Amino acid sequence: MTPAAIPPLAFGTGTSWSTAVDAPLDAALVTAIMTALHTGFRHLDGAESYNNERELGAAVAAAAAEGVMREEVFVTTKLWPTVSDAPGTFARSLTRLGVSYVDLYLLHCPFFTPSTHGVSVRDVWTSLESLHTSGAARQIGVSNFNTPQLRSLLGYARVRPAVNQVELHPYCCDEELLRYCAQEGVAVAGYSPLAPLVRFRGGPLDAVLERVAGEHAKTQAQVLLKWVRQRGALVVATTGKEDRMREVLEVEGDWELTEEEVKEITSVGRKHRRRAFWKKEYAEADAAVEAEMGKET
Ligand code: NDP
Repeated sequence: MTPAAIPPLAFGTGTSWSTAVDAPLDAALVTAIMTALHTGFRHLDGAESYNNERELGAAVAAAAAEGVMREEVFVTTKLWPTVSDAPGTFARSLTRLGVSYVDLYLLHCPFFTPSTHGVSVRDVWTSLESLHTSGAARQIGVSNFNTPQLRSLLGYARVRPAVNQVELHPYCCDEELLRYCAQEGVAVAGYSPLAPLVRFRGGPLDAVLERVAGEHAKTQAQVLLKWVRQRGALVVATTGKEDRMREVLEVEGDWELTEEEVKEITSVGRKHRRRAFWKKEYAEADAAVEAEMGKET
């Protein structure tokens, strides 16, 4: 079966929506996902570790009852932390989601070894390949892999990852990884695209975003989202507000940042590197990049 095209704008159910194991059903999240579907999102991004696949499933079922059928919604979920039992974890995700397949199943991170979790990344990838062969994971991919980690996986993968989902905004942009993914045909999906606006306000991009947004009569959030799209990546963003959902969706409209604007945002962001997630795990690799950049200046 030809894999479904991946809708470029995913509605995220992690970060502020994540909850504790066994928390009661979060009706606000079900409502937010329904609103996202009503406004036009067709890609939902979940994960085992967000502890809210039930909510995602409830919204998908409610949408189907209203006529937005399961096949029209691209459902992504991710494996972590129970990597030692990928088939069991995947089966439990399907049950919680109330679906017979997911469109994309991601290995959430590469930060484990046989001594920490009883399995290697290679073992887990082999399990994901079997789930793909069974048809229950229509596409498989990874998340938070840097270039050496992805290169290693591509060395043994029989099924290549469709996607690498990574943090991507001007303050956190791994140019080498973008180049390598493009070369290898692995789509990049960028999470936390709005970080310069909502997590790292006060940085050198503030003035640039304000100016560029004004020039295009768009919001600063839209400029950041468009930057991610024009860097060739899919977007994974979230909000609880309907007007902001529409703002995200409008990014696919008929407008573009100029090449100079993309370059300016990239180069200003590059000098003020910030990462919001998995900081400890990335510390060594980030320090190496900082050292390289230090040599350049
Ligand atoms: P975002 O960059 O989308 O930030 C979301 C925040 O931005 C929310 O607090 C939201 O607040 C605010 N916001 C949304 N729209 C606007 C706007 N137009 N103007 C100003 N503020 C706005 O990304 P997140 O960091 O939340 O991550 C998005 C998704 O990515 C997660 O839900 C998850 O699915 C995925 N993810 C994956 C990770 C991984 O390891 N693979 C790690 C982290 C995230 P409000 O609700 O008030 O609008």
